[in-house]
Amino acid sequence: MLTDRFGRNIEYLRLSVTDRCDLRCAYCIPEGFKGFEEPAHWLNFDEIERLLGVFAKLGTKRIRLTGGEPLLRRNVTELARRIAALPGVDDVSLSTNATQLGKMAVDLKAAGVTRLNVSLDSLRAETIERINGKPVLNQVLAGLQAASAAGFAPIKINMVVMRDNADEVDAIVEFCLQRGYVLRLIELMPMGDTARKMGYVDLQPIKGRLQQRYGLIDKLLPGGGPARYLGSADGRFSVGFITPLSQHFCETCNRVRLTVDGQLHLCLGQEERMDFRALLRDGASDDDLIVAIHAAMDLKPERHEFREQPQKLVRFMSMTGG
Ligand code: SAM
Repeated sequence: MLTDRFGRNIEYLRLSVTDRCDLRCAYCIPEGFKGFEEPAHWLNFDEIERLLGVFAKLGTKRIRLTGGEPLLRRNVTELARRIAALPGVDDVSLSTNATQLGKMAVDLKAAGVTRLNVSLDSLRAETIERINGKPVLNQVLAGLQAASAAGFAPIKINMVVMRDNADEVDAIVEFCLQRGYVLRLIELMPMGDTARKMGYVDLQPIKGRLQQRYGLIDKLLPGGGPARYLGSADGRFSVGFITPLSQHFCETCNRVRLTVDGQLHLCLGQEERMDFRALLRDGASDDDLIVAIHAAMDLKPERHEFREQPQKLVRFMSMTGG
């Protein structure tokens, strides 16, 4: 079991399989951004499988594939299959913008991906284009249908709430209610200038309003994440609130993030990290990797400072993996 200096058990790893994306969500990756990782720096599938195998031996049970857009990494289903087969890994999930899901949902399911989170910030075509940078609403809706048809259930919808879409929360609640999706409302994190200018919205008043309007009660959902859930008494609807700013959840943080180029980030909102690409390519043994992983846990900061120091982080979300 991996434990950090603050007694937190780290059993969840988010793996960014690419820092590239077909969208340009204004809070995540700025239009015209050119600083992508060199392909020569990307961990290959053998390196990923080996490193995650060591993590799994140390108690990492859950892996989430993310990015950038993970479905853009060539043969990502093969990678998912290899990760799902690692002894000790009992949950392989994936976060996606769903633009490629129409053609990949069946293969992802067959590869052993158990859970899907799909980003959907709006149901208005023009708002999607403004926030996400491309007119992809119909493609995303088709991707969602394909995921349901492939047997993914429940599907979670991630909506980052900001100035431009805060008036759409109720419409998205209704959309999820009708289709049986679990909704997760996320506060905008100040990652890079691009996110800071999108207009943060505090989710606490929205939470109170939804709770009253739909008669929601506290609910526990599996997934190991930071969302605090409310649900309808009949169990038909759940909505999670991810509130890193208005009510941070660092004391229960159970995760680390591995970037496409093999940097292990210990906190989304801080700079501490360890370079596993160098170790893997310099001939580290499994024992060396174990020592390095334990040393990395000692670097995990107590908490982010999104609120106290919103200007601190120059790294965009797409670079670390959301
Ligand atoms: N492309 C995939 C997707 O759309 O889910 C995976 C990567 S994306 C970075 C993962 C999640 O991070 C998405 O739900 C996205 O909306 C969220 N995200 C990105 N930047 C964010 C920010 N500054 N604050 C809060 N959430 C953010």
